[in-house]
Amino acid sequence: MQIVLIEGDGIGPEVTQAACRVIAAAGVQVEWIKGMAGAAAAERYGEPLPEQTLEMIRRYRIALKGPCTTPVGHGYRSVNVRLRQGLDLFASVRPVRTLPGIATPYEQVDLIVVRENTEGLYAGLEHEVTPGVVESVRLITRPAAERIVRFAFDLARQMGRRKVSFCHKADVMRLADGLFLECARRVAEDYPFIQFEEIPIDTLCMELVLEPRRFDVLVMENLFGDVVSDLAAGLVGGLGVVPGANYGTRYAVFEAVHGSAPDIAGRGIANPIAVIRSAALMLEYIGYRQEAQRIEQAVLATLKAGIGLTPDLGGDGTTMTLTEQIIHHLHAG
Ligand code: NAD
Repeated sequence: MQIVLIEGDGIGPEVTQAACRVIAAAGVQVEWIKGMAGAAAAERYGEPLPEQTLEMIRRYRIALKGPCTTPVGHGYRSVNVRLRQGLDLFASVRPVRTLPGIATPYEQVDLIVVRENTEGLYAGLEHEVTPGVVESVRLITRPAAERIVRFAFDLARQMGRRKVSFCHKADVMRLADGLFLECARRVAEDYPFIQFEEIPIDTLCMELVLEPRRFDVLVMENLFGDVVSDLAAGLVGGLGVVPGANYGTRYAVFEAVHGSAPDIAGRGIANPIAVIRSAALMLEYIGYRQEAQRIEQAVLATLKAGIGLTPDLGGDGTTMTLTEQIIHHLHAG
């Protein structure tokens, strides 16, 4: 089977290599087709997301991706935003659940953040009106709003979830979020067997911190989803453990929630679990359900055993020791 691998920047190569090792240890044979994106691609092609890489994903349909650095405030537009728009990967899905062996103030958190991935404030429609004044457009369209909410309800149905919470700021952004909310209400009518809730995004943030267990599937606009995904990751142990997937109708790209972590890059201490779990989501998606479940179980067993964990999880291990432990539990399981 051929799958595109984009290693990315910073800790990207370290953690994607760990994921490839785990996939091989689970008995899935993959021929990795290497695509470039991020700093290395910018250096080589003068372009951080070369057309060849997009073409590769169009051809092979599925990619596992490490994080790519985006310079702040200047230079290239985000590789990630362009990748998602270019392949119309309209739905970002981030399952967030409490994991064994990780001490947090919360227990039994089990929610899924569904984020619209192509529009909103990340549509990339920005311009300088005059020096000192810039305008960023918050793009909401009915088709994109309806399809992401429908996606969230379908996901809820497939996964046996009971509630979808639509998160918005329609009291202030009356037109943009007003339209999104109207679309959400309309789609919700088609799913009378799943509870539908509307919640302002600021209230959501407070309630996530106070009582995260009351949430199930959350669906929201692009920027809100970006922020809430990191917040939710913090409820269960941080960015090192939460996986992610970007789905379109034709392609899917699997990547962790976290970025390239320049502060720890090259030190061999990055937590590979988020990318390994993203790889498990990928295997599940392409039909290797048992292998995916075995990998997830091996990760859980490793966390429970608490051996070889990386510093972000309170251990003194490395990317390598943690990966070895996961492979050990994979074979033992
Ligand atoms: P980040 O997620 O890279 O790091 C935030 C903090 O979490 C850092 O302290 C980092 O050390 C820690 N962390 C993240 N992943 C970790 C892991 N696997 N193991 C241990 N610790 C981990 O966020 P940032 O610093 O805001 O962003 C750095 C760069 O990554 C930026 O250029 C940003 O644009 C990019 N980014 C890319 C993606 C992506 O490619 N999907 C996502 C988010 C950020």
